[in-house]
Amino acid sequence: MDKPVFTGSFTQQEPIPEAAIEAAIGVMRSGRLHRYNLAEGEVGEVALMEQEFAALTGAKYCLAVASGGYAMSCALRALGVGPGDKVLSNGFTLAPVPGAIASVGAEPVFVETTEALTIDLDDLAGQIGESGARVLLLSHMRGHICDMDRLMQICDGAGVAVIEDCAHTMGAAWDGLPSGRHGVIGCYSTQTYKHINSGEGGLLTSDDDEVMARAVLLSGSYMLYPRHTARPPVETFEKVKWTTPNVSGRMDHLRAAILRVQLADLPRQVARWNALYKIVEDGLRNTAGLQVIERAPKESIVGSSIQFLLPGASPETIGQVLRGCATRGVELKWFGAKEPVAFTSRYDSWRYARPRSLPRTDAILAGLLDMRLPLTFSTGDAAQIAGIIRDEVGQAHHQAVDRAG
Ligand SMILES: *Cc1c(COP(=O)(O)O)cnc(C)c1O
Repeated sequence: MDKPVFTGSFTQQEPIPEAAIEAAIGVMRSGRLHRYNLAEGEVGEVALMEQEFAALTGAKYCLAVASGGYAMSCALRALGVGPGDKVLSNGFTLAPVPGAIASVGAEPVFVETTEALTIDLDDLAGQIGESGARVLLLSHMRGHICDMDRLMQICDGAGVAVIEDCAHTMGAAWDGLPSGRHGVIGCYSTQTYKHINSGEGGLLTSDDDEVMARAVLLSGSYMLYPRHTARPPVETFEKVKWTTPNVSGRMDHLRAAILRVQLADLPRQVARWNALYKIVEDGLRNTAGLQVIERAPKESIVGSSIQFLLPGASPETIGQVLRGCATRGVELKWFGAKEPVAFTSRYDSWRYARPRSLPRTDAILAGLLDMRLPLTFSTGDAAQIAGIIRDEVGQAHHQAVDRAG
């Protein structure tokens, strides 16, 4: 009998909602696409978006920028990170994170990874002491949030400022507090594969007056910063405007217009993602040779992707699972590959950063598989996908056990 094959696309997102398309057409008809190009009395889509995102997360201030990567480099600059400074970050993250650190001439110091795929807090404490770094760029990679209470205790105790990379945690929370609200600055991405989609785009939030005034000036506000509405008082800008360079990276009204409609719908989308996630997670649980990533009770997640481990599996067994799933239409990414592939690269491929070796991270990544869950999948799709992975892992696992026996 032929095995069932999944025919959906793992890279197909939902269309932009009709109301967002209408809003975008309105902006194009106006001809005013630049954020500071406003009619008399007009606030503009970008400033409105900033206000709405600040309200959603409970942040005092918000700034919209060109990308998530830009938000992170802007955050580092706003905290005064410069050439030769060391910046702590996760050993398991995506390339734009160490890239943002390198973009300001600073050096990433990578920290080990736990089985929960979060930053190893004991290693973090050790590395703070050893490196003397004053800043942590914390990546909630693939939406996994570490014990934020303990992390903030460690960092506050050592005088380390925390920037949160929330590319995968927009809409998520730790102990009821939205992700991005624990550190000094939260950075978000609105790139197509994240939680709201403007092709490219980013957001930065903070409660700190001076940090935010610098970020606004850095983003390319010229002396038009009074046109922002989710900003610190103008007096704060007076203090920093002479010494803050313009590192142009603004958002435009067209993107903001389509984001505002999606932002209003985010809670509903989060619920849909989590329904898909739960079906796949339940379907994979209790598969021999496979370990699901248990989520902390204080974590509210956005299940836009799912990860699982094949602990102790050889590269051959993993290869067999990847090929078996691919043949049946299920696209898995492996973080253990020696060569960087597509979006997936690992800390030891970022050679410009001269990474130290991270044996515990290596052991985790060696068996780590990852899969996107776009909202174009139905709950039936999710169940079918879980069944296919279960079959293929089960088969590869039994063959490996037989070979060993
Ligand atoms: C996508 C992503 C970024 C960067 O966002 P861009 O908007 O693509 O620049 C940063 N961190 C993580 C973990 C990401 O997945």
